[in-house]
Amino acid sequence: MRLRIFGGVGLLAAAALLSGCDSQPTTVKMADTKADAAAKLRASQAAKVKLAAQVKANELGQIPVLMFHRVIDKPGSTDDRTPQQFRADLERLAREGYVPITAAEMVAGKIDIPAGKHPVVLTFDDSSPSQLTLNEVGVPAPNTAVAILKDVAAKHPGFPAKATFYVTRDMFGKTVREEQAQMLGWLKENGFEIGNHTRDHINLRGRSHKEVDEQISTIAQQIDSLSGVHPTTIALPYGNQPSNKEWAMHGKAYNHQGAFLAGYTPAPAPFSKAFEPQGIPRIKVMEKKGDCKQFCSEAWLDWLKNNPDMRYTSDGDVRTVAYPKFKNPYLRKSFSKWGLPY
Ligand SMILES: [Zn+2]
Repeated sequence: MRLRIFGGVGLLAAAALLSGCDSQPTTVKMADTKADAAAKLRASQAAKVKLAAQVKANELGQIPVLMFHRVIDKPGSTDDRTPQQFRADLERLAREGYVPITAAEMVAGKIDIPAGKHPVVLTFDDSSPSQLTLNEVGVPAPNTAVAILKDVAAKHPGFPAKATFYVTRDMFGKTVREEQAQMLGWLKENGFEIGNHTRDHINLRGRSHKEVDEQISTIAQQIDSLSGVHPTTIALPYGNQPSNKEWAMHGKAYNHQGAFLAGYTPAPAPFSKAFEPQGIPRIKVMEKKGDCKQFCSEAWLDWLKNNPDMRYTSDGDVRTVAYPKFKNPYLRKSFSKWGLPY
């Protein structure tokens, strides 16, 4: 066996010597290919920088993470949207160049959207039937949040039906295990993210480590056993963090990459130094009135539109973090390898 291998190597070496007579030595060829590759890389880098500058990419800019609750005809509080309002909310986003991504994609820095577009994260809390109800053949009922989202997505190519559902034991109103599995299974199969919203929706502030872990672990185990999904993000009930922020991130049955709050600003990009995975702000969806004059969705979407230098704009390449050079101090160190300043 060993001899045969040596024999093979000898033959190869002889062939190389023979062909060496009328062609360049192998080392020179290798150097050429290397130089070619380096030149190609420089050219593609230059093209990337040019495109990033053209679309004014700003991947250190802010991302609106919108917080929805129920979508119902007769809103019980300012947390709810009517189906008409919800449709208009989505239409505005599509019109203004936003592309939905999930919360999990955001915290992982996997923001894979076309050049010049802006990411938006649509989140739905409390797993209510108004968000997801399926008919007898598994099709979303009219005017549920998912039905409206799918409808708007079908009318706007480039605005995919992507969202994150923060689930409690309420499980879209289903109490039978098989029915709960149907709901979570449908979300999973249709590319929606299932996130953790604690089992009983209790305020975690001031609770013991054991209570916090139990609230998050039990629902995580239930989601896993129903759908095989291990949530990577959590929305904290009432936006309240436990005494130790890390308790919401890692525990007996969960490992989160991000914990979301309930207010009141757009979120920093995951590549920015300002990004804090234990407390990512969200924005309530509401017109500019009353308590929402300044700190809800209409006001913030206006602000982001009027302050493009503050808004996240993609360069279309998920592998780079493109931004105007003078923003360099804001780049998180762990992403410096992917940085594409222009
Ligand atoms: Zn909630």
